Amino acid sequence: MKPESEHAAQPAAQTSPAKGTPAERAPRLRVSVGTGTAIGLNQVRADCLPTTAYLMVGERCDRNCGFCPQARESGARADLLSRVTWPAAGDPETVIAAVAGSHEAATSGGEGVKRVCFQVIHDRASLGETLEAVRSTRRRSSVPICVSVFLNDQAVVAQLFEAGADHVTMPIDVVGEELYHRVKGGGFSGALKRVEEAAARWPGKIGTHLIVGLGETEEDMVRLIARLVGQGVTIGLFAFTPVRGTELAAQAPPDLASYRRIQAANWLFGEGLIGPDDLVFADGRLVGFRRPSAVVRSWLAAGEAFRTAGCPDCNRPYYNERPGGVIYNYPRPLTADEAAAAVDVVLAGAPGV
Ligand code: SF4
Repeated sequence: MKPESEHAAQPAAQTSPAKGTPAERAPRLRVSVGTGTAIGLNQVRADCLPTTAYLMVGERCDRNCGFCPQARESGARADLLSRVTWPAAGDPETVIAAVAGSHEAATSGGEGVKRVCFQVIHDRASLGETLEAVRSTRRRSSVPICVSVFLNDQAVVAQLFEAGADHVTMPIDVVGEELYHRVKGGGFSGALKRVEEAAARWPGKIGTHLIVGLGETEEDMVRLIARLVGQGVTIGLFAFTPVRGTELAAQAPPDLASYRRIQAANWLFGEGLIGPDDLVFADGRLVGFRRPSAVVRSWLAAGEAFRTAGCPDCNRPYYNERPGGVIYNYPRPLTADEAAAAVDVVLAGAPGV
């Protein structure tokens, strides 16, 4: 059981801001190694670059999620988030200018990023730094901005939108009351309520992250996805990735077939092709679609269901996979063979009627 309270105060201000407003100061930014190459700050060989610039704000979280290298009691390297390396970036204005330039190139038909995502580590100063980074980015560029951040307070969501974010992601991560409390600390129902309240207040502008493979059932995951998709919440789907030094380092990643079924359900919900009542579950596992197999196959045939799910243009290359290893989230269009194999896996475990 994690000790911290779900109702912990927001990060403390460092100066004396107006009441309820986090103090703003120059952000401590880290840039994911692939992002550095995508925006021209470094040169790393990669067969697939990010289409979103991923920037981390802050380091070493106040919270203590069992899967996270940035957790308070984690022994993992300080430059990791999931299995991705995030070198310190130095001057934030240089980074933001590089993002703006890359986005401008992309909008002119060239190569570049189409979105920027601030991944906020919950420490004393990161919220104020994030507001400053969002404002600075918006001053320079029209690039879509999303912020992924743990928040208790809807007023801070409003501040992020006022600063220029177009999407705010409030990560639930862990599905189920007992599992959430054990892995993240605090309460699942409270986290879900906050996401749903925000989704009602800012339709189409709220997202969440869900991690598959922490011990939840496929049914619990799929039913939650259906509920949230029905409220217009964007689902960023992740495969649990064990990272050395974290509390859950010894736990295995999810079964690929199980992950493919959840990806298929998520995508079919998002496309409005099925609802949760069109699925058959047995012992918590998705075992069938109440649709002819040929129809399900035709829907899934292009492979879109198996690409990275989340905000538009978020592809997160190698966030959950090793180069050359099992690909949970394809960061690019699938080949015909890859798509056919993924659909076969789904229909082998959950055939149509
Ligand atoms: S879905 Fe992707 S772009 Fe959106 S908040 Fe999550 S990581 Fe960032």
